[in-house]
Parts: sequence; C-alpha cells; structure tokens
Amino acid sequence: MSLTAVCSFDIDSEGRHCGYIRIGDSTNSSGWAYHSLPITSVKNGAGVRLLILGGNHGDEYEGQIAALDLARRLQVEDVRGQIIIIPVLSLAASASGTRLWPDGTNFNRVFPGKVDGTIAEKLAFYLSHDLFPTCDVVVDMHSGGRSMYFIPTSNMGWIKNLPLRDVMARHMLSWKSQYHMIGGDQPSTNPDSLLPGDVVRQGKAVSTGEFGGSGWATAESLEVIRVGLENFMRGIGVYIVGKESVLSDFGKIIDSRDPLSFVTAPAEGIYENTVDLYDHVTAGDIVGRIHNFKQAGGEVIEVRARRSGIIAVIRGYPPVTIGDVVCYIGALYNDFYSFQAQAASEVVKQ
Ligand SMILES: [Zn+2]
Repeated sequence: MSLTAVCSFDIDSEGRHCGYIRIGDSTNSSGWAYHSLPITSVKNGAGVRLLILGGNHGDEYEGQIAALDLARRLQVEDVRGQIIIIPVLSLAASASGTRLWPDGTNFNRVFPGKVDGTIAEKLAFYLSHDLFPTCDVVVDMHSGGRSMYFIPTSNMGWIKNLPLRDVMARHMLSWKSQYHMIGGDQPSTNPDSLLPGDVVRQGKAVSTGEFGGSGWATAESLEVIRVGLENFMRGIGVYIVGKESVLSDFGKIIDSRDPLSFVTAPAEGIYENTVDLYDHVTAGDIVGRIHNFKQAGGEVIEVRARRSGIIAVIRGYPPVTIGDVVCYIGALYNDFYSFQAQAASEVVKQ
C-alpha cells in the first residue's frame, strides 16, 4: 500500500461503496487538507476486476457523464466480480472546462507518478502502484476535448506485446461502435508516461476510446459511449444485467498509425474546417483554411491533406497557432480482419 493516497473504504470488501480517494494536500484555504476524489466500488464475489476511468482530461465530458451515470445506478446484483469507477480523474480541470490541471499538468503525461510529487503525480502513483496491478482490465475514456472533434470510436494502440494486443483488439471490438480507431505513438512522447501506456507496461489490458469532443457532449456521442460501455462490460463477463445492446456487429476500422495522418496548422489564425467527419479525401485535398486576423488584408492559408483516407478528427474550436493539430486522416477498412491482413503484410515486408 502506497503512502501517497488512501481509499476512504476497504476497496477489497464486498457490496456497494461510495467514498473518496484521499491525498494529503496543503492549500491557501486549508493548511491540512485532503484532495478528495470520488470513487465507487461494486463487488459481488469472484470474477474480473474492472477499473473504469473518466475525466483523464478535464474538458472531455462524454466519459465523465457515462461513468457518473454508471456509478449512480450500478447495484451489487448487476455485477459478477468487481467494478471500480473513478468518474472524474481531473476534478479541477473538469470544473474549469480545461484539458490541463490549473497548474498546467497534463494528467495523461505524468505516469507512473511520484510518491512525493504534486497531487496529480501522487494520484498517478496511487493508480499505477495500488490499483492497476490489482485489476484485470482498465477502461480510460477520452474525447477530443475543446480543441478536437472525433468520430466516436473505441480505440487501441497497436502495441508490440502480441498476446496482449489480441486481447485488447477483442475488447475494442466488443464496444460494438460503428467505427474503431487504431493509433500509433504520438510524436516526441514517451508512451509509458500516458495512463494507457502505463497499464500496458504492466502487462494489463486497457480499453480506450475517443467519443466526440469540442468540450461538449451530444446525444450521438453519449449513445455510443453508454451502450458501448455496457456491451464491453458484458463482453468481459463483469456486468450481468440485461441483454447486449447492439450498435454494430461489423465496426469499420480507422487506421491512424501513419504519422502523415496528423495535419497541423502552418500558421496562427482562425481555422475553418472545409471538410466534415466521415468525408473521404485524397492527398493534397484542402481540408481547412486559416484566416489571418492580425494583419489588415492578410492572405488566407489553405491547409491540405498529407495522405488519402477518412476524416476522423476535425478542429473543435477555431483559434490555432503553429503546430496545432487541425485534422486527422486515417485509412478505412471495412472490418478488423481486412485491417489485420494489411498489418500482417507490413510485418512480412519488414
Ligand atoms: Zn483525452
């Protein structure tokens, strides 16, 4: 048991419990305080232990709403095994509508955390050292936040651990969303510093998703995430109430592993999307325009696709600076098996 944080109830005990993860804090308003993060656990005998996380990034509300909903209604008789839910990891960021914590921390870049670090680092340490090792599966729900809007998808990274990759592919498909997305590593980023990367580093399965964005939640995105999460929980045998709610038995795959998938802003200005989600483009097509708002009579700059494929992400709000991602284009496959055949042929060529 780490010294960084404690759960206000015995997390191994049977039944339904709502309480807090408490982390020692010292603030202007209280010298001896606890950062108190709501957590719910519902346990019913032996079985899979699932950890569900929302609000890794503060302005991604779809996962927070789905997790809050589930935490409110989940009863002991609904569960075989245990479901632990932390609906809003980045509390202050969620309250202020920002991706990052008020001190500038990106919670999804501080893993495996620090025992004597900031509150964010201590929380990451607690998750990494106390919770992840005791769980069979972790769910980490994201969206595009304020700056991006994604086609709602369950996702996975195309990791090198082959047996774990197979498990995670099965999990991704079990959400039964119409589209699933497979990504690679983000440039210049240590993958192990991300929450999902830390789970994978420990040899555990993590299921993620990008369920919309723009800093708000729609009926469409919430339908995908709510129904999808139930499908997923039933698929791993931990949720035993009701029938499987099918969104799609044959989800399409968006392959975004190629770094050329990213389109970035070449200049500062006001960005205009000239394509919509689900549109198909070829390399060289215009996907957006940047309006210079600081120079009288300034030119409009056209932004072009660097590859062909489906528009999986558009800009969520218009102000941009050089290097901001404004669009994301993936290769589209009709099903996972066509994608897998393509991925296998890449391995043969190497
Ligand atoms: Zn996120």
